[in-house]
Amino acid sequence: MFHVEQSEKIHVKNCPVCKGEHLEKFLDIKDYFLTGEEFGITECKKCGLLFTNPRPDEKELPKYYESVDYLSHSKEDRGVFSRLYNIIRAYSVRKKYGLITKYKKNGKLLDIGCGTGEVLNYFSKKGWEVKGIEPAESARTFARKNYGLSVSPEKEIDNLESDGFDVITLWHVLEHVTDPVKRMQQIYRLLKDDGILVIALPNHKAWEAEKFSSYWAAWDVPRHLFHFSKESFGFLARQNHFEVIKTLPMKFDSYYVSLLSLKYQSGKMNYPKAFYFGMRSNFSAKSNENSYSSLIYILKKKKS
Ligand SMILES: [Zn+2]
Repeated sequence: MFHVEQSEKIHVKNCPVCKGEHLEKFLDIKDYFLTGEEFGITECKKCGLLFTNPRPDEKELPKYYESVDYLSHSKEDRGVFSRLYNIIRAYSVRKKYGLITKYKKNGKLLDIGCGTGEVLNYFSKKGWEVKGIEPAESARTFARKNYGLSVSPEKEIDNLESDGFDVITLWHVLEHVTDPVKRMQQIYRLLKDDGILVIALPNHKAWEAEKFSSYWAAWDVPRHLFHFSKESFGFLARQNHFEVIKTLPMKFDSYYVSLLSLKYQSGKMNYPKAFYFGMRSNFSAKSNENSYSSLIYILKKKKS
């Protein structure tokens, strides 16, 4: 187990989104991925938001990302798991392109939390003007060197041009940011009035989240600071003058999340069982689309 020095944690007293004061303990979760440290999850009884509480100080957060296994930043092949991951990623890049071009055929794209830049590279090759934001320096360097992309650290968001982008995407990113309200406000400034915003998030109301409970891999504390459902994300969107125009499932996530959850629960990688749980999750979500493992929200600015 990777060791992180124990340090002061931030105890949140008001809901970071609606400022509500009626907070209740929801669950205790271990950081199974890296440190084995335990974190709490708090529920806001007003807007329904779940958030990691207490959580590490902003300066301490990067330590919880220091792992060779952090796959979204890894390109090297390390066995079946990585090979599968890379195949699925290539497929999902094409799916993302297909999804976005239903709304915008071409233009300027900003990908916040772009990682090593595979999505941006694909759009760039299709003639889009692309820009990335990525906090991890190693991923930024990779994206620049390998794909020649323009990728900046998070603090550069405030220096980008207002109304500068036709499409802004955050693929499994908003759950990691320290202040989602501020991030939504920044996005509002950057997005053109007729632009679209695409936000993909894990969904804690997923079928397999209930099955795995505290072992559900998508809690991923303390890297995930916020845990959204369709309802609590809808509140955040409306509060920041966006409307959700479409919600779509990410069906692969149920398999990947089930595989990791089973590993946390039993200590073993069990592909057949993960496949079964992934199928069950997607099947059950057919009758209740709000219970897919992850959801993609397509948003537009509200007409004022
Ligand atoms: Zn709240």
